[in-house]
Order: sequence, then C-alpha cells, then structure tokens
Amino acid sequence: VKPGWLQETKALKAVESLKNRGYEAYYHPSREPARAGILESIPLDATIGFGGSMTLMEIGVLEALEARGNVLITGINEPLGPERTESRRRAMLSDVFLTGINALTTDGLIVNLDNSGNRVASMVFGPKRVIMVTGVNKIVDSLEHAVARVRNHAAVMNAGRLERNTPCRATGRCIDCNSPERICRVLTIVERCPAATEVSVWIIGEALGF
Ligand code: SF4
Repeated sequence: VKPGWLQETKALKAVESLKNRGYEAYYHPSREPARAGILESIPLDATIGFGGSMTLMEIGVLEALEARGNVLITGINEPLGPERTESRRRAMLSDVFLTGINALTTDGLIVNLDNSGNRVASMVFGPKRVIMVTGVNKIVDSLEHAVARVRNHAAVMNAGRLERNTPCRATGRCIDCNSPERICRVLTIVERCPAATEVSVWIIGEALGF
C-alpha cells in the first residue's frame, strides 16, 4: 500500500465535496506543483492580500510573488496597532487574497478561528478572488473534529508561537479562557463558496502549518 494513501483518499474526497459546494478545488501530492499552479493562476499585475499563514510561508508562494513584481499587502512586518490594522483593511480590497485554513472537513466545511477577524472576513467578502491553501494535516472527518482541532490544536499552537500569556500555554489545552491576551475571538464555518467571491482551495499532500 502506498504511504499516505489514507490522507490522499481524504484529500480527494474533500476536493470533490468542495467542488460540489461551489469552489474550485485542487489536490497536489507535494508543494512544488501546487506553488506553480497557484502562481500561474495569479496575474502579474494583481495586488495580493495575505491573511497570515504558516502554510503559505512554508511553500514559498509569497517570495515568488514578490520576486516577480506582484504588490503584496501583508502587514506582517508592522507592529500591532493602527498601522497594521490599516494594512489589513487594504488587504481586504486586494485583487487576490491568500490564506491558510485551520481545519477542512472531508465533506467540504472550512473552519477557522481568528483573533482580529481580518483573515476570516477577507475569506468571505472583499477581495475579488481568494486562494486558500492547506496541508492534508488539516483535513478532519466531521465539523465536531474541525472545531476541536481549531480550538485545541491550532489556537494553542498559535498562542505558543505568539508567546501569549494564556492558560493554554501552560496546560497545552484550551480552557475557553477569559485572558486579556486570548487569541481566539472569531470562529467561522464557511458552508459554501461565498456568493460574490471566486474561491479556490489548494490541498497539498504534506503536513504544513499547524
Ligand atoms: S481560548 Fe484561551 S486557553 Fe483557549 S486556546 Fe484560546 S487563548 Fe488558549
């Protein structure tokens, strides 16, 4: 049996489900052909918004876009505050918005948990096109598993990455805290491709982000 067959089977099921829900959807076993396909789908003069995603940073799409001359609006190098908020607002009106996904169910539900909400807002309205990229590690079998994944895994990992003073950093588990530094503030479930936005979802057969 081919290694990774189970993840690939789930990824192909998710692609089929996403297409039925009105998205363009693709599966590539590795990052290189996915990156090439994503780059090819973006015009050279398109402005690019970025929602913050370890997956996208890992596959090198942002550097490639910048190198060929696309204008990127990321805000990632600005300190938290009015400047970054303004960049996030501008990113919401970009031609193409790039983002990762926190959890994807095999039946095509897209589940995310945000702090400011700029990423999840831009995923559903604002940019002309949205490109979502995810590794197979984000694919789960049900909405229940997806919510558990975003709360108990993705959010906790992000709290650690951002060095937040939150209970999950000590326990490794979400306790639905009321900490001032809580990063989990906006939970979204996207059930179908949003009506006014063209969205493509690219699944890569590797473990990417968290
Ligand atoms: S709600 Fe609080 S404890 Fe739970 S993951 Fe978010 S920051 Fe951590």
